[in-house]
Amino acid sequence: MSEPKFDRRTVLKAATALAAAGLAPGLLFAQSGSGARSVKALPSRDEFVIRGATILSMDAAIGDFARGDVHVRDGAIVAVAKEITLPAATSIDARGMICMPGFIDTHVHLWTSVCRAVIRMDDPKFGYFPVTNRLGPHYAPEDSYRSVRLGLAEALSAGATTVHNWAHNVRSPEHADAELRGMRDMGLRGRFSYGPAQGMPNDKPMDLDGLAKIKREWMPNDGMLTLGINSRNVGSDPNPLRGNVPLNIVKQEWSGARALGLPITLHTSGPSPVKYLDDAGLLGPDVQLVHPLLTTAEERQILKERGVSYSTSPVGEARRPASAGVIQLAELLEAGVKVSLSTDNASSYSFDYFASMRMLYALHQHRVGQRVPLTAQRLVQLATLDGAVDLGIADRTGSLKPGKRADIILVRTGDINIAPAGDPYETLVSFAQPRNVDTVIADGRILLRAGRFTALDHAEVLKEAAESVAALRARANWN
Ligand SMILES: [Zn+2]
Repeated sequence: MSEPKFDRRTVLKAATALAAAGLAPGLLFAQSGSGARSVKALPSRDEFVIRGATILSMDAAIGDFARGDVHVRDGAIVAVAKEITLPAATSIDARGMICMPGFIDTHVHLWTSVCRAVIRMDDPKFGYFPVTNRLGPHYAPEDSYRSVRLGLAEALSAGATTVHNWAHNVRSPEHADAELRGMRDMGLRGRFSYGPAQGMPNDKPMDLDGLAKIKREWMPNDGMLTLGINSRNVGSDPNPLRGNVPLNIVKQEWSGARALGLPITLHTSGPSPVKYLDDAGLLGPDVQLVHPLLTTAEERQILKERGVSYSTSPVGEARRPASAGVIQLAELLEAGVKVSLSTDNASSYSFDYFASMRMLYALHQHRVGQRVPLTAQRLVQLATLDGAVDLGIADRTGSLKPGKRADIILVRTGDINIAPAGDPYETLVSFAQPRNVDTVIADGRILLRAGRFTALDHAEVLKEAAESVAALRARANWN
């Protein structure tokens, strides 16, 4: 078993110590400004064969292998087969491991990651919204960069290879640039959804000129990063925690995004706005909604017809009061709506895709049960291939298929919390934890091996995150 890779207590201790020492933000940032940063190069894309793994391809035509090999070259999957004879290639011994596509997290607010040092679930003063609303306006681009790196380091260690970064604290184009640099420097695939800034007036649209600038400067890149927008809540939510904009602002922002060919994402916390949006002619296959809790049967039919995707974040949604609704996975699947899985944030709980699948299954069984059968295989599909479909990147990731990019993870099945292992899908949903993730490969780069980062200096990521949250608290006069 590997050592713990990520220690929440280290962040808390360091943040507290820095805050107690009264270090000024200027001093903290003088120590490592983003301009002078030296980021370690990502590992190269080598040729190798993963050998002897239990292969879950998530591709219907290829299927699974109780024991099989995967050939990777120049960042792409070349072959998936029972046995690949290629003596010259480097071998990765994957006996006793599950080889599968990396997890695809379809909605997460990476900018809040450092706030985990402050947020508490059992004290409303320190809840997610009070903390992020209070610290959000004080973010410098460097804080955004550090927070994105912290979140992605954890996501990577938990087996994610693609993350949809829902950035709703874009205080300037420089903040967006910092978040994108954070994503690029970590080597994971992802969508960056540009948004408004925390505390912005609801009658003001997001900075669409800034969005166009970011598109010019960042797109297209090497195919690892894509761009979209996120929208503030809309409709009749009487208690919006992230703003609630009138229809004219929604139309302005969405048409601005569509003019640039960019997809759109929106939270649907509170009363469902699906009918409202459809009546305004706004829904289409470029829209992803988040938190499917209160849709009606009529609305689900609309979602199916318009090709809209819905992302569910079961760990966070399960913490909401019953009045907020229930996760309507069964209803969405029955209606033929596209669904995917997400974690929402790394500041209220840890990134754990296994726990997300487990929670989703438990909630489904608790409410619906066998009336709508839900298999472990389908849950793994929601966390991988269905995420790629949601984000519009299933042509390049989400399954182990020759021609797709090599976004692959290996999960050990011989560890104490799994062995003796039975069905591999059952293993992943009922038993596995992030600590069982042995290897993470993104676009052919081996970023985690034997449970350890191959290139990332994660101690530095932790130190910078702790500095950042201490500086944010100081700037917000919150010590
Ligand atoms: Zn969210």
